[in-house]
Amino acid sequence: MARMPVVFVSHGAPDALFKAPDTVACWREIGRRIPRPKAILAVSAHWQALSPTASHAGAPATIHDFSGFAPALYDLQYPAPGAPALAERAVSLLAEADIAAALHPGRGLDHGAWVPLSAMYPQGNLPVTQLSLTRQGAAAHFEYGQALASLREEGVLILASGAITHNFSWLDWDAENDPPPLPKARVFADWVAEQLGAGKAAALLDYRAAPHGAQAHPSDEHFLPLLVALGAAGKDAPERFSPGFTYGGLAMDAYVWQD
Ligand code: ZN
Repeated sequence: MARMPVVFVSHGAPDALFKAPDTVACWREIGRRIPRPKAILAVSAHWQALSPTASHAGAPATIHDFSGFAPALYDLQYPAPGAPALAERAVSLLAEADIAAALHPGRGLDHGAWVPLSAMYPQGNLPVTQLSLTRQGAAAHFEYGQALASLREEGVLILASGAITHNFSWLDWDAENDPPPLPKARVFADWVAEQLGAGKAAALLDYRAAPHGAQAHPSDEHFLPLLVALGAAGKDAPERFSPGFTYGGLAMDAYVWQD
């Protein structure tokens, strides 16, 4: 079986499917280009738990975990089957690495997972489970990724979904069209690309010390999925996809690591 790549996407605002056509096209392209997975382990910024927790749901609900967006967004459903066996496998791999992990009986898919999946795999027929983040910080999340890397040999796509930049005060919600990118958002996004390209994991774990790093992420949960992906990527080289910026301050970069 082909070793699956690892994918990171910046999911943007919940309405990306309606308002970010370049990003949606990028997600579609990634879905078309990579080998078809047997199942998907999604790691989204929008679920944090005390320990890494995988959903045992047989038919995960589509969670509309946002408010104030267009009514049509609340009508969208992503009908993927769950992947309880994969959830169990993820928990046991984490345990083998001395990381206490747990199963959740029925957690659904939040928008960090179902929004990009709707573009990557619009038929919604691939089994998906979600794995939570924790509040244990950058290095721990890199280690989760390392512990889960062997899933790639088993036909599993690790899909990490967060944001390269995520500071609401950088966003212009009222602009009619996409405003020009904020220079400091671009500087930080390019810094991330440079470190990833050079394989500098230590610098990425210490991203808050980078130019505009602490400002790009007032809290760390949208950056942590990238570190899970990086841990799972091992020595593979990343390919950067840059569909631009939304709301001026959200860098929409995606990365695919493969042999
Ligand atoms: Zn988000």
